[in-house]
Amino acid sequence: MVINNIFRGRNQGITVIAFLLLMTLGSCAQNNQKEVNISDSGMKVTERIFKSEEEWKKLLTPEQYTVLRQKGTERPYTGLYDQHFVKGAYFCAGCGLELFDSDSKFDAGCGWPSFNTPAEKGHIDEHADRSYGMVRTEVVCSRCGGHLGHVFNDGPPPTGLRYCINSASLIFRSEEEVKREKLRSNDSIPNPGG
Ligand SMILES: [Zn+2]
Repeated sequence: MVINNIFRGRNQGITVIAFLLLMTLGSCAQNNQKEVNISDSGMKVTERIFKSEEEWKKLLTPEQYTVLRQKGTERPYTGLYDQHFVKGAYFCAGCGLELFDSDSKFDAGCGWPSFNTPAEKGHIDEHADRSYGMVRTEVVCSRCGGHLGHVFNDGPPPTGLRYCINSASLIFRSEEEVKREKLRSNDSIPNPGG
């Protein structure tokens, strides 16, 4: 009986250790988690990026962190790219994914950079946003989940959409820089946050 109890105790101990080991392995795997996201077209595949809040704080400027990670909004008419009309491309300030081409940028007069179409449909995800007593559609980077701004239905043709985006969420590269770095639409710019 005593021996039986000891055996049972040991077995339980082993079970607990095995369980803890599995949990540890599980959480390690989660840290390196990469999820493959196939867009509507089924053509573009984007690897998702997960970082801890501490990692994002190190990577981003305080302004970028507030907008991208805490869904902040920069004050209108203050952003770097509001009145910025140079040929090139706009990349995610969090992960470097291309989000908009300068050809889709227009002056909506609202105080934030405005675009009528994303560079690639699969690069931007939409979520319903019911904050501040309004119903809006939030847009986020499909790879790092960073908050970009909102999309509205009052944009110019051909899409009729207005992607109202915070400058702090974007990094611009001129056409020459894009050519020099041989960037393609699925490439990332290096060190976007810095
Ligand atoms: Zn991103």
